[in-house]
Amino acid sequence: MEKSSKQIDECPGCGLKLPNQHFELTHSYNATSECYQKYTELTYYTLSKQDINFIHQHAVDAYAAQHSGNEMKNITTAFALIGLYYAIEHGYSGKLVQLCNLRINHPFR
Ligand SMILES: [Zn+2]
Repeated sequence: MEKSSKQIDECPGCGLKLPNQHFELTHSYNATSECYQKYTELTYYTLSKQDINFIHQHAVDAYAAQHSGNEMKNITTAFALIGLYYAIEHGYSGKLVQLCNLRINHPFR
């Protein structure tokens, strides 16, 4: 039986271990490219749902919070944590969290 010679990389953000696929690094998350590829797949799924509650917002916030660091802007982490706070503590839908983010960005509109 032949052993796989692929190197296993551990994501610095979430700890997910996947074989190194040698994907090009195209993001600023504190994540391996293989982990980011999985996030991309999740993104396709959540956006394809086209649900009124916009579950995609929760996926974005959870991934950003879990993969803070590297070259990610601090404000991205802050918005992710604020979004998760409203979702978990107050039961806000993704759509409501998105509206909160808009209100924080433009408080006088
Ligand atoms: Zn990860």
